Amino acid sequence: MSGASARAAHDHIEAMTLPEPTRAAALARLEAFAPAMGRAYAATRNHDRGPDDRGNVSLLSPHVRHRLVTEQELVSAALARHSASACEKFVQEVFWRSYWKGWLEQRPSVWADYRARVAEGVAALATEGGLRRAYEDAVSGRTGIDCFDAWARELAEDGYLHNHARMWFASIWIFTLRLPWTLGADFTYRHFADGDAASNTLSWRWVAGLHTQGKHYLARAANIAEYTGGRFDPRGELDERAPPLEAERPAPAMPLPPPDPAPEGDVALLVTEEDCLPETLPLGRARVIAAAGAVCTAARSPLPVGPIAERFASCALDDALARAGAAFGVSLERLGGFDDVAGWAAATGARTLVTAHAPVGPVAEALARAGPALAARGIRLRRLRRAWDSAVWPHATRGFFQVKARIPAILRALGNPA
Ligand SMILES: Cc1cc2nc3c(=O)[nH]c(=O)nc-3n(C[C@H](O)[C@H](O)[C@H](O)COP(=O)(O)OP(=O)(O)OC[C@H]3O[C@@H](n4cnc5c(N)ncnc54)[C@H](O)[C@@H]3O)c2cc1C
Repeated sequence: MSGASARAAHDHIEAMTLPEPTRAAALARLEAFAPAMGRAYAATRNHDRGPDDRGNVSLLSPHVRHRLVTEQELVSAALARHSASACEKFVQEVFWRSYWKGWLEQRPSVWADYRARVAEGVAALATEGGLRRAYEDAVSGRTGIDCFDAWARELAEDGYLHNHARMWFASIWIFTLRLPWTLGADFTYRHFADGDAASNTLSWRWVAGLHTQGKHYLARAANIAEYTGGRFDPRGELDERAPPLEAERPAPAMPLPPPDPAPEGDVALLVTEEDCLPETLPLGRARVIAAAGAVCTAARSPLPVGPIAERFASCALDDALARAGAAFGVSLERLGGFDDVAGWAAATGARTLVTAHAPVGPVAEALARAGPALAARGIRLRRLRRAWDSAVWPHATRGFFQVKARIPAILRALGNPA
């Protein structure tokens, strides 16, 4: 991205609801929201008061998703201000994110299956006129269901929807409009500034009744009217009796691969949109001699990715590279894409390339594709997994309850006050 377009992106993002895509803005929002992470959060978090009044939620998901701020930092901020019981709900929501990541990490076939179905769905849009018209009405907010149409527009304009609106939106998409869930998941994944392979795909599956088999989430008009403060009232417009989608056989869980060995000696550092906090990576005794960054937002979908999602990742990466330059005192490069990684790494003279572990998703796929070119140049790839992920992911084998029950023990093991 050129300097001028990066500035334009910043201007656009400043004008919207979300904090800027920088670590400084994330920390400022964290500080400002910390007093509200206790009982007030539990009491009000389900209310979607509209885009002009988002004070009851943190709005930090795009920053956590790109790791401009970490899950640990969110939880620490909550526990520093509130008793464990008062901020229990907020902490649990943060763990939902890690639960989804760990669950998908152990079932990569669910992601592969989703990708294949999106490709099929996009192909069907080209050949099936009825499907295409219904899809276009939905994504451009022309279904005639006011709340749904408003959320479709809000999503494209702001790159964000309140959690409750995401649940209602997905449910209406699947059960009232009867559109393929994978095309809906693709639409939100392309537009959310926090678009995340695990949270997005698995939340859509959860709404559809595919995650907890036979249990689906049906949007109800009375619930929408209550939790939007009467802004919407779609009485008589929703299918409130639809059965769950037919569940496929659950994908078998694969054991988590062990973390890569700790790097040593001179290394080249690759920063990606999966982790924009390179200065706190567990680098061990390695010495960073050069750093570069690359995004692959376009690989989220065969369809175009929304400008907010794209710019958020791009600006977050610029912010991360600037901090990497300051922390390691090295030259920085912004690569055009992952095809350039092996050539750049070889030119640094390092024999090891380190990068934050990229969970299942487009960055992990791009790194896997770069593997042979790196190997051909005699360069080892070391993916550094953070202690938080190693502590939570192994427990994400079944339902959220298994993780939730272990939250106090996980937090103690990570050094949080009991
Ligand atoms: C259909 C659907 C799609 C979704 N897609 C995404 C996605 O692509 N990326 C994404 O980050 N979240 C996704 N979510 C989860 C959730 O809606 C957002 O994380 C949340 O709305 C972000 O707002 P916030 O930062 O103000 O959250 P807060 O209420 O302030 O919560 C604090 C943090 O906890 C995490 N969190 C909160 N709720 C959830 C949840 N239900 N699941 C997972 N993590 C949660 C987020 O990191 C969030 O920043 C999706 C939910 C649904 C129902």
